[in-house]
Amino acid sequence: SKFEDAGLHPAMLKNVYMSGYNVPTPIQRYCLPAINMGYDVIAIAQTGSGKTAAYLIPILNKLMGKAKKLAAPRPNPATYRPGIDPPVRAEPLVVVVCPSRELAVQIFNEARKFCYRTMLRPCVLYGGGPIRDQIEQLQKGCDILITSPGRMKDMMDRPQILTLRRLRYMVIDEADEMLHDDWSEELGTIMTGGEQEEGNIKYMLFSATFPKAARDLAKTHLAEDYVRLR
Ligand code: AMP
Repeated sequence: SKFEDAGLHPAMLKNVYMSGYNVPTPIQRYCLPAINMGYDVIAIAQTGSGKTAAYLIPILNKLMGKAKKLAAPRPNPATYRPGIDPPVRAEPLVVVVCPSRELAVQIFNEARKFCYRTMLRPCVLYGGGPIRDQIEQLQKGCDILITSPGRMKDMMDRPQILTLRRLRYMVIDEADEMLHDDWSEELGTIMTGGEQEEGNIKYMLFSATFPKAARDLAKTHLAEDYVRLR
């Protein structure tokens, strides 16, 4: 099976080839059609399996044609006066939650490659750094938000900065790591946060192992007809 057969937009197919990906990995072969068909997905996938592209490619491919319609309107940078005009809220279409700063940056770099020619803007936030800088980062425009659970929860507590009202996809990457590090309460809050909005949000859970805590999270937040892949 090939990337050409995955029904990708020509611009996305070009991004894939420009990234040097010629043949889909097994997890990509399974995830692309499942996500494309609109299923919630649980994928048992190790680091190095190509899991990041397995969710980024089909999600960005789905959104790119509709980017103009779905994405938040942007203020005119020539006339917007920071500090005087009302702050620009971040309204991401996709949120990816992952356990570490290193992984967040890695996912962000992958997202940048696939966002090329899509009008979608990726943005990365993590704990540790000064929050002011990161808010500024968010306000520059954020369609695809990649972040850690703690920082995501912080931002959700600032509804004038971040809203999930436009959210379409939420990806929990390396779920077992985050559950092991005791972020389960935050993950629950984050996943519930999207559900309170009107839109129909798709949930993806990626994990190297599938402990009870991960099964519980899936049972509570994923659609009943979710697809389980490995
Ligand atoms: P991941 O499992 O997402 O951390 O990816 C592991 C590595 O494999 C990363 O360096 C990716 O850039 C690379 N990769 C992902 N998919 C492919 C593919 N289809 N062909 C070649 N390399 C890939």
